[in-house]
Amino acid sequence: MNFFILGGPICSDGSEFDFDGGDWTSVGDAPRCDACGNAYALLPFVPPIRGMLVADRSVFDLSQTTGREVLVSEGCIRAFGDHGIRGLFQPERIELLGVDGPVDLKTVGTYFLGRVDWGAEIDRIASGLKTTQTQPCPKCGFAGLIEGYDRVVVIEATWDGRDWFSVKGLPGVIMVAERLRNLCRGLKLRVCGLTPAEEYSAPWLSKSKG
Ligand SMILES: [Zn+2]
Repeated sequence: MNFFILGGPICSDGSEFDFDGGDWTSVGDAPRCDACGNAYALLPFVPPIRGMLVADRSVFDLSQTTGREVLVSEGCIRAFGDHGIRGLFQPERIELLGVDGPVDLKTVGTYFLGRVDWGAEIDRIASGLKTTQTQPCPKCGFAGLIEGYDRVVVIEATWDGRDWFSVKGLPGVIMVAERLRNLCRGLKLRVCGLTPAEEYSAPWLSKSKG
């Protein structure tokens, strides 16, 4: 099974595409693991969601935001519904106040902000994952600071089959199943970026430490 990782907010053409809730939208508490007490995601936006669309140069249908949520166009939401795409939870309609960039608000259409949930566990060894602790929390996968990894490999037996999911033990990475990648391609949806999981790495500290 092939998996991909959603890019953003810096997209494949080098431009930024993001949502900025500024002071217009409040944030809630970060979800915490009830076993180890660590936060396993960033602070979520609390509806009603209003703010600015950040579009340096281009407008995309699908992107990961700075807040590690999924920014998705109305056309995408409809396509996901039509094709039974699963795993994007509670997409909330955004009240767009303007566009930070050379794009007219009237032309961008409606956007939603959705989130994904744990759908697989990381294969720490196959991924080359290095963390400051060696024993991950059995509930959330937390193992101290992530020092780096060479690729993203999930334990396939732990994947629950959802098209959108996040990985226990690798917070902030939004995974996309091959079926969803193919749908985006087939419908020519403008995706900020999709990187094959085996090519997605974060080797910044592991390499410097050898
Ligand atoms: Zn935990």
